[in-house]
Amino acid sequence: MKALIVDDDHFSLKLLASQLRQRGGYVIESCDSAEHALELIRSKAFYPDIIFLDLNMPGMDGPELIGLLGKMEYRGGLVLVSGYSKRILHATVELSKEHQVSILGYLEKPVSPAQLDALSQNWRLLDGNERDNAFFFTRAEFMAAIANREFVNHYQPKISLSDNRVTGVEALVRWMHPEHGLMGPGQFISLAEQYGCINALTRLVVENALQDRRRWKGDEAGFSMSINISMLSLSSMEFMDGICRQITESGCAPEDFIFEVTESRTLDDQRQPLEIMIRLKLQGFRLAIDDFGTVYSNLSKLKDYPFDELKLDRSFIDGVSTAKSKFGFYHACLALAGEYDMTLVAEGIENRQDLMFLKESGCDLGQGYLIARPMAAEALGKWLAEYRGVI
Ligand code: C2E
Ligand code: MG
Ligand code: MG
Repeated sequence: MKALIVDDDHFSLKLLASQLRQRGGYVIESCDSAEHALELIRSKAFYPDIIFLDLNMPGMDGPELIGLLGKMEYRGGLVLVSGYSKRILHATVELSKEHQVSILGYLEKPVSPAQLDALSQNWRLLDGNERDNAFFFTRAEFMAAIANREFVNHYQPKISLSDNRVTGVEALVRWMHPEHGLMGPGQFISLAEQYGCINALTRLVVENALQDRRRWKGDEAGFSMSINISMLSLSSMEFMDGICRQITESGCAPEDFIFEVTESRTLDDQRQPLEIMIRLKLQGFRLAIDDFGTVYSNLSKLKDYPFDELKLDRSFIDGVSTAKSKFGFYHACLALAGEYDMTLVAEGIENRQDLMFLKESGCDLGQGYLIARPMAAEALGKWLAEYRGVI
């Protein structure tokens, strides 16, 4: 991946470059001014897939460069890097949206490897989706893979932070590709959406979930199964009706199924999804808003949607116990969840300190590598049998 770092501070340039180098897989260019970066991109001497942009620079600053990138229809991703307050970052994110430059997230200075880890998930997604260097497949290949059942679910447990009890699992789809091996959803979901194949894939995910569920104590009432639903699928009640039938006809209670939709498009894209969500709720299914916090949508809009669960994105969870900026947003979400009677779920808990903080501050549920990684159905069965509530 071609990465361009733009920062007037040479120490920051070097630090980030060396961190990216250590991760491997990057071709890195550094510029100590926005003007220089612009020249480089314009001349196509180096067209970055991802730009790490410091906001505050003498001469042309970050926001000005963002405007110009928008004008030249820069198609890569952008990561904001700043020592400034989150409000400035938020404002800049809004600005970038207006210029249609896609923001992959932001890093606070000094950038830590953990921050990069959390964020790199975002650009890995982008990597698999929109880049031409990614593994490419045709619609026919994808449909054939569905017909051949090359997709399997992995499952990640979700626990109650008050008593460590496992409350349910989330199904995360993987493609067992005969040549390319096991591939994560970041590499194919977006293309499946573009091809109009996402509904067929979701049907298979649900079918697999219903089957796998019987293998472990997942079929006990009250043990939830979360299914990720593309926002595109929420524009057809017919499709969702089919999914609901699939579930109820297998004998499962709707209450045990949680449909997760990602914040990204949910709250902008009004009526139809809202109507469908309400109807799902009326049938007894539960709804979660996923990756919350990543697109900075209007928090007050949340109250208009019947979500049961608010899943706070892992970029806010990693370091929540120490990073002041995350702390603030976290507390706002905690209050919001309380006010709208939603269960707050912390995604991506990776270290004990954050876990303890989340427990003490009253976050309801948690999910993350520290508790358990996503696992194949069999491995999950074993994990559940052995789990004693100790993390
Ligand atoms: P998500 O629904 O937010 O799922 C959580 C993602 O975070 C999963 O990545 C999981 O493996 C990862 N994760 C969990 N705990 C940690 C942690 O402690 N640290 C870190 N760094 N990562 C953690 P995965 O499986 O690659 O899935 C990525 C996204 O793909 C999912 O994000 C979801 O939006 C989408 N997706 C997965 N399965 C499906 C599906 O069946 N249908 C649709 N439409 N989307 C899906
Ligand atoms: Mg999810
Ligand atoms: Mg998520």
